[in-house]
Amino acid sequence: STLANQIAAGEVVERPASILKELLENSLDAGATRITIHLEGGGVDLLSVEDDGVGIFPVDLALALERHATSKVATWEDLQAIHTMGFRGEALPAIASVSRLEIVSRAHGQKQATRLQVTGGATGAPEPSARAPGTTVRVADLFFNVPARRKFLRSASAELSRNQKVLRQIALANFPVAFQLFQNGRALVQLPAALDADSRAQRVASIMGEGFLANALYIEQEDQGLSLSGWLGLPTYNRARGDEQYFYVNSRPVRDPVITHALRASYNDVLFQDRHPLYVLYLKLPPERVDVNVHPAKAEVRFRDSREIHDFLFHTLRRVIAEQGG
Ligand code: ADP
Ligand code: MG
Repeated sequence: STLANQIAAGEVVERPASILKELLENSLDAGATRITIHLEGGGVDLLSVEDDGVGIFPVDLALALERHATSKVATWEDLQAIHTMGFRGEALPAIASVSRLEIVSRAHGQKQATRLQVTGGATGAPEPSARAPGTTVRVADLFFNVPARRKFLRSASAELSRNQKVLRQIALANFPVAFQLFQNGRALVQLPAALDADSRAQRVASIMGEGFLANALYIEQEDQGLSLSGWLGLPTYNRARGDEQYFYVNSRPVRDPVITHALRASYNDVLFQDRHPLYVLYLKLPPERVDVNVHPAKAEVRFRDSREIHDFLFHTLRRVIAEQGG
């Protein structure tokens, strides 16, 4: 029902940036290699995500807007071994219940695209449309039917910067995918596909600031099934933004007190800097050692052995900093 979807919307749709995150994850799940975002009014008036992924077959289009109609989890075992980012089948119906949503999709191998519009949860009839293979989801007039929620949105520029933060976070975990972001028709972010080490470093520099790499330690360490790679900024880096801290666990962005503590402690232990370092770091570990299914919309994980993870991070970083950066 529309009401159930609006309740779900309270969980997944807080503001444009939370919608952007869901739509980007859907595009990535669909195997997109090129994703274009258009925003108007910081994403409140319009937020669209265009991809070149596998697309949705016409018969599945209306289904995609039904609750729990995910195409991604077939069995309980699937849920246990989640590898895709989205898996709840709630995002699209929730978004559609609080906006004017339009999907235009052409599945690979189909000659035509199909367009479907939903206004505040009421689904129209599918119509033929034109499009290259892939999917475009347009979300207009967010919370037009829930004024109480609309009041909680910030200025267009504040919402815009949250959207950009979401894009940066996703772009740093998906180097082979090209991303573009336009606000009111103006290109604000252009990230070409980064397929080799040089272009990956270029993407990191364009996100973290041009001086970052010259003032960062490159890390590539492995121990007992745990691997840590990425960049740790040194205190010599004069940062423009103070919040550029990106940590990924098996490619999923994570904020976790165990991680934050290990990073900060190793940094301060060697460099005697009582501050938060900037970083782009990737931790990889066997899936059975981490539970990512705690709350899909939040950047939380539960480590099976958080003490070991903490110590691995702390000792690895402390050693690298002492060797290269002290
Ligand atoms: P979930 O991602 O949890 O499955 P969503 O509500 O986000 O649920 O999406 C519902 C379904 O719609 C997906 O399972 C997928 O089959 C389809 N879908 C959504 N976005 C796209 C896209 N960009 N490309 C292809 N299929 C998509
Ligand atoms: Mg999804």
